[in-house]
Amino acid sequence: MEFKNESIRDYSLEKERSAIRSALDSIPKSLPFQIPISIGRKEKFSENRISHKNPWAPELNVTDVSLSNGNDLEEAIQISKKNWYQWKERPQEDRSRLFLQAAEKLINKKDFIIAVCIWETGKHITEAEIEFAEAVDFCRYYAMIATEKLSPQKTILLGEDNLYYYQPKGIVGCISPWNFPMAIFTGMCVGPLVVGNIVIAKPAEETSATAYEIAKCFWEVGIPKEVFHFLPGLGSEIGEAIVTHPEVSIINFTGSRDVGLSILRSASVVSPKQSIIKKVICELGGKNAMIVDADADLDVAIQSILPSAFGFQGQKCSALSRLYVHKDCYQKLKDRLIDAMDGLLVGSPLDFENRVGPVIHKESFLRLTKIQKENETFIIGKTSAIPTKGYYISPSLYEPPMGSNMWKAEIFGPLLSMQKISSFSEGIHLVNDSEYALTCGVISRNPNHVMEAKLKIDVGNLYINRGITGAIVNRQPFGGGKLSGTGAKAGGPDYLNLFVEGRTFTENTMRQGFSRDTIQ
Ligand code: NAD
Repeated sequence: MEFKNESIRDYSLEKERSAIRSALDSIPKSLPFQIPISIGRKEKFSENRISHKNPWAPELNVTDVSLSNGNDLEEAIQISKKNWYQWKERPQEDRSRLFLQAAEKLINKKDFIIAVCIWETGKHITEAEIEFAEAVDFCRYYAMIATEKLSPQKTILLGEDNLYYYQPKGIVGCISPWNFPMAIFTGMCVGPLVVGNIVIAKPAEETSATAYEIAKCFWEVGIPKEVFHFLPGLGSEIGEAIVTHPEVSIINFTGSRDVGLSILRSASVVSPKQSIIKKVICELGGKNAMIVDADADLDVAIQSILPSAFGFQGQKCSALSRLYVHKDCYQKLKDRLIDAMDGLLVGSPLDFENRVGPVIHKESFLRLTKIQKENETFIIGKTSAIPTKGYYISPSLYEPPMGSNMWKAEIFGPLLSMQKISSFSEGIHLVNDSEYALTCGVISRNPNHVMEAKLKIDVGNLYINRGITGAIVNRQPFGGGKLSGTGAKAGGPDYLNLFVEGRTFTENTMRQGFSRDTIQ
């Protein structure tokens, strides 16, 4: 079967807007969504709960999330252990078929799932559409490569049979972030599940409803509840319980650097009851750059910069935050960028014309407002018209001095810094001068510079003459190096290998006679 990426609807066409419009309009009457804990066949609501507020109308609670704890985890693990054998011994083709069906189930519920995601995150409709397609792609792609790439290898010699095959590792804790609650949650769970592992899914606090809708699709097509549990709650509680549990073999984590590094530390401690070495997959943040070369096509530059820096309000690990522009085109690009930014429409994602929405929550809003205040003296442009109600942050452009934290720390908001460079090589040096190494862009018409960039820029995903976000499954396996991550490359051919271990059988077939009494 040939893999094809899921298609994207064109929302500039009125006929494509009506279904999603009614799904979006239907949400308020169901708020707040009640999110249960799902352990095996049991669903329950706990007394301890948290809510998440709508980012553009914070007076509305979008969710009321039951908080799971260590006891729930223990129960889920005991159920899984009793049922794992049937799941892992199932033929790979059967498990893969279930995930192909899960993709169809997601598509059946597409408008509703996208609407829930928008109400939880404030994501623009087109961005949500692309993210949804990525979730579908993860189901299909991992289902397909599980059958193609993980088949056993036999080496038969005279007198010796060898078999090399893969088996699942066991219990995988999937701890996901809020910024791609459809795609990342799906990909992180499908990868380990499709090859026969048990998954304990811990969604982000902010986006538990979106994740729950996806989990339901999996269960509805027959992915057993006994091996796929849904444990929403606090990172500091259920998240830590998953990380430190002696029977959790793999922690599949995507999120912030600080949390990722603390997970690595905790998981390295071997507790007395533990008989496994934990593996930690950590996909973390970025401080992504773009170089605009002397001969760059400035139309391409502007079209690449705007969505990379301000798409989903800059709340992407791949978002652009450092812009290095050659002195020959610096002033021209700066003027055009400032003008273009002032024309960005900022407002609620319910109005499809708006390009930039609110940030995820009050905490982010206050953190970003503080960074804006601290850097007031360096601001050179911003979007002036933004709504006063809701967690809106003006997309802003800065010229901070070298050494400023604006060049170092991940900002995770619509704040972009720019700096003049005297040569392309200087740009490469500055790009590489970072603890992160996730994405980077180069806008250039010089083939030698493009080649130099490919050879010297040290990032996981390098993009030439285009934006630096929106990696597509199979076409652009995604993930970074340095402190951006362990290089898991989601959506790529090696991803599933992270969740299996190789086993080798070797048999001497040159028998020295046989013992008659063992034959029945
Ligand atoms: P976060 O680190 O705050 O939370 C991520 C998840 O970890 C959540 O489910 C949270 O509940 C859980 N968690 C928090 N503390 C924990 C602990 N002590 N133990 C176990 N789990 C814990 O990140 P976020 O704010 O949800 O997401 C934004 C971050 O994720 C950004 O830094 C972004 O760059 C990064 N990100 C990286 C990628 C990638 O592929 N590299 C993709 C998306 C987001």
